[in-house]
Amino acid sequence: MVKTNSRRNQIDEILESLWKMKEEGEHSKEALLKYPQVKEEEGRLEEMEKENLIALDGKDVSLTPKGEAIAREIVRRHRLAERLFYELFELADKSIETTACSFEHILDASVTESVCTFLGHPRTCPHGKRIPPGECCRRFETEVRPLTLPLTRLKSQEVGQVVFIASQSRGRLERLAGLGIVPGAMVKVRQTDPSPVVRVGEAELALDQEVAKRIFVRRGHLPPRGQRPFRRGLGLRQRLRRGFRQR
Ligand SMILES: [Zn+2]
Ligand SMILES: [Zn+2]
Repeated sequence: MVKTNSRRNQIDEILESLWKMKEEGEHSKEALLKYPQVKEEEGRLEEMEKENLIALDGKDVSLTPKGEAIAREIVRRHRLAERLFYELFELADKSIETTACSFEHILDASVTESVCTFLGHPRTCPHGKRIPPGECCRRFETEVRPLTLPLTRLKSQEVGQVVFIASQSRGRLERLAGLGIVPGAMVKVRQTDPSPVVRVGEAELALDQEVAKRIFVRRGHLPPRGQRPFRRGLGLRQRLRRGFRQR
C-alpha cells in the first residue's frame, strides 16, 4: 500500500473490524485488538473518536452512525471482491482474503455497483457472511425482480427468457450453464407435470422442481423465423470473463 494511504487504511481496517464485531455481538476494545489487521497504534482510537467515527466507553468501543456508514461500504466492497474472485478466478480461500483486502481500498462506488450487478446482487460472500446491500440491489429488487417469475410459473408451451438464477451454488450454476441455461437464454416449457421439462436450443431438459424454482424468467415470445430462436449459452466462467472485460 502507498504510504500516504496507510493512516486511512488503518482506520478503515478498524471500522471494518468493528462491523464484524457487531455481527458477532462483541464490543470490547480487547476483542478489537485481536483482529489481525488492527495494529495497536498510540492514540488511534482517540483520534477516531474525535472524528466522530467511534464512541469509546470504558472498555467498550462502538461505531457511531457516521462510522457505521463507512464500515458498511468497506465490508460491502470486501465481500463483493471476495465473491468476484471466487466466481471468476476460483481463488483458494487464503488468496481470496489477501486480494479482497487490497481491493476494498481501491474499488470506487460506481465500480462496486457494476461488480454487484455483474454478480447478480449476491447476498453473501463465499464464507456465508452477509453482504450489506447497496443502492443497485434495492433498484434490482423494486424494478427488475417484479418483472420476473420463476420458471415453474410458466405454463406448458410458454416461452421465457432467463433473467437470473437465484443460486448460491457455483456447481449448480455451472451445471445449468453447461446445459445452456444462462441469463439471456430462451427456454420453452414442454411439460410442467410431474416435473418441468424445457427446451433450450436443440435440447430437451428435465429439471428438478427445486432447481426450476430458482430460475427466474421474463415471459417472452419466440423471435420470428430466420433468427436463431435458441442460443446455447457460454459456460459460466467464459461469460463472467467476457462480462468483466466489457466493463
Ligand atoms: Zn468472506
Ligand atoms: Zn447490487
